[in-house]
Amino acid sequence: MFKKTLKSQLSLTIAMVTLVTVTLISLLSNILINQKFKDYISQQQKSKTEEIVSSLNEQYNKNNHGWNEDFIHILGMYALYDGYIIKVYEDDGNVVWDAEQHDMSLCTQVMTDISQRMEETYPKISGKFTTSDYPLEENGKPIGRVSISYFGPFFLNENDFQFLSALNKILVGVGLFSLFFSIIMGWLLAKRISKPITNTIALAKEISDGNYDISFEGETNTKELNELVLATTHLANSLNEQEGLRKKLTADVAHELRTPLATVSSHLEAMIEGVWEPTEERLQSCHEEIGRITNLVKDLERLAKVEGDNLKPNKDFVDLSKIVHSVSRSLETEIYKKDLHLFIEGESVTVSADQERMRQVVFNLLSNAIKYTPKQGEIRIIIKETKDYGEIYVEDNGIGIPHEEQPFIFERFYRADKSRNRKQGGAGIGLAIVKSIVKAHGGHVAVESEVDKGSRFIIQLPKNQS
Ligand code: ADP
Repeated sequence: MFKKTLKSQLSLTIAMVTLVTVTLISLLSNILINQKFKDYISQQQKSKTEEIVSSLNEQYNKNNHGWNEDFIHILGMYALYDGYIIKVYEDDGNVVWDAEQHDMSLCTQVMTDISQRMEETYPKISGKFTTSDYPLEENGKPIGRVSISYFGPFFLNENDFQFLSALNKILVGVGLFSLFFSIIMGWLLAKRISKPITNTIALAKEISDGNYDISFEGETNTKELNELVLATTHLANSLNEQEGLRKKLTADVAHELRTPLATVSSHLEAMIEGVWEPTEERLQSCHEEIGRITNLVKDLERLAKVEGDNLKPNKDFVDLSKIVHSVSRSLETEIYKKDLHLFIEGESVTVSADQERMRQVVFNLLSNAIKYTPKQGEIRIIIKETKDYGEIYVEDNGIGIPHEEQPFIFERFYRADKSRNRKQGGAGIGLAIVKSIVKAHGGHVAVESEVDKGSRFIIQLPKNQS
């Protein structure tokens, strides 16, 4: 099925939302303005009639009981142009001034214009010209009357119509402008949001093609998008690292196996061909090499067991201090052989953990400390406790680990400074097992070390595990 792009979907949604909002606002304001305008016009009409009546009252000359006909004429004509047709009578019924008599055709035209316009604009009000009479008085004494006809219940004259249509045009203009503006803004926003996503997709494609050496340029202002980009770059980096380690692992396993296998094979070959006497010493050497291979395979098996998906620690309340003392005793001979000084500090700290696996952790750390500390060196194991964690520090004043290698020593088969380590014979699995066990317990493992000064391994185990 055809799928829309994020950019077009975003732009479309923003444009739709704006269209609906602008239309609603325009409609509502139009209705409201019209409503208020009608009230205003009705009010205006009332004051207009009042004004006509009061102006006419002033045109009576009480001395000669006559009317200022010139002014009444001007007043009448102005009123006519405004849509009011007036007729002024004297008290005895004689006509003083009559718009229709004066200019019948103009009156008809004014009436038709207004009726037509009003019917077109407000067909519902079905209005018509109605006439009302108002008395004219001088100091409370009747002096005549005026009948005023206009289109009711209300009407808009030429100016009012012009004002309303200008207002409508402005509203439509503002609406169109906001629509156009929001489409542009929506498009820009959509572009801004979709660009890092599109870039991240490209990155993800690169990653799936096996190209992990990627970088992402430029930052966005959106927190989540930055996090997405960061997470993807981080994913690529860790995949890159994993890939490197996997390659290294394969190379290391091959290398580890090749040397003893080649030795055994060449020794056996020489003995089969009769070049060498199968002396006890030679057979012993073959046996040792096979022992190395067996140990490596065992290490791998142990690691696989610990790292296996089904790793479920058999938890109990264990005393870290007891474990440390017991493991130290089991390594006494090695400590003695190298004439090392071991100090154990700290009181008993109880955590919820798997006893056997904890022994393994302490065993691996202590054996490393023994392995990598020269004769007569010092090893210190400290057991501590914080609010949430039980902690074990294993410190030595041995050869130390180069700073740039420290991030990798917990990886499988990683051995810091290979040349230095070869004779020690480790396969680089001990710390991988430590990390795996500690992680499975919800704990943390860290290392601080300086070359030729010593190392400190820190294990933190949560006291209470769910
Ligand atoms: P190995 O079997 O090689 O000891 P580990 O996984 O136990 O494997 O350790 C990985 C690497 O970390 C070792 O090869 C060593 O270079 C370094 N390392 C571990 N512990 C220490 C230590 N206490 N002092 C110095 N280097 C250490």
